[in-house]
Amino acid sequence: MIITKKRDFKELMENIKNYKSFFLLGCSECATLCGTGGEPELKAMKETLEAEGKSVTGTFVAKTGCQVLGTKVELKPFKEALDKTDCIIVMSCGAGTQSAVELYEDKPVFPANDSLFLGNMTRLQFFDERCSLCGKCILDKTGGICPITACPKGLLNGPCGGCKDGHCEISPDIKCAWVRIYERMKKLDRLQELCEVTLEAKDWSASQKPRTLVTREEKKK
Ligand code: SF4
Ligand code: SF4
Repeated sequence: MIITKKRDFKELMENIKNYKSFFLLGCSECATLCGTGGEPELKAMKETLEAEGKSVTGTFVAKTGCQVLGTKVELKPFKEALDKTDCIIVMSCGAGTQSAVELYEDKPVFPANDSLFLGNMTRLQFFDERCSLCGKCILDKTGGICPITACPKGLLNGPCGGCKDGHCEISPDIKCAWVRIYERMKKLDRLQELCEVTLEAKDWSASQKPRTLVTREEKKK
């Protein structure tokens, strides 16, 4: 999931200082789980804006904010509220914000959140970054632990000299990614495999931005 946190409200207020009316758009998926774009957060934002003398023409939590066509269909019943609004505040990730940008070319759109990373929720509203979306996964060779993400230096060839007592020189709170990989492979009785594995210099072309992908197969004629 995409991990978001609320932007500094003063910055958002600075963005919207010249506008009077707003439509608030949230997302029922990641932003709801992060507590940045679900029903309670939209309600709180509406109350805060109204307390600041602004008006809110409508609010809606999209099912999946980054799904452009689905969001377009869901927003049809809100046409009047969207026509009336000066601008749209999107309370999801940057992808959801850009769905609104694509759908409402004539309206300014502002993000209410900062998008941080692709992460796992380990318990309620605790998030860990586990994958950097490199485009060519090597988890098959590293016991399922990603050194590109778990090692602050993204080292692919074992621990650096800064590893101390199994912890990372960047922070004692971080366990060295390569110690974790070693321990996991040992537990799985795959140490020999780890010794034999060769991680070639990574081809970063798969992470060249902006990336696109089409998975739909063309219909057979
Ligand atoms: S190797 Fe790449 S795709 Fe696999 S978890 Fe790490 S960053 Fe993500
Ligand atoms: S100590 Fe381990 S986790 Fe930290 S930078 Fe070195 S290899 Fe990476």
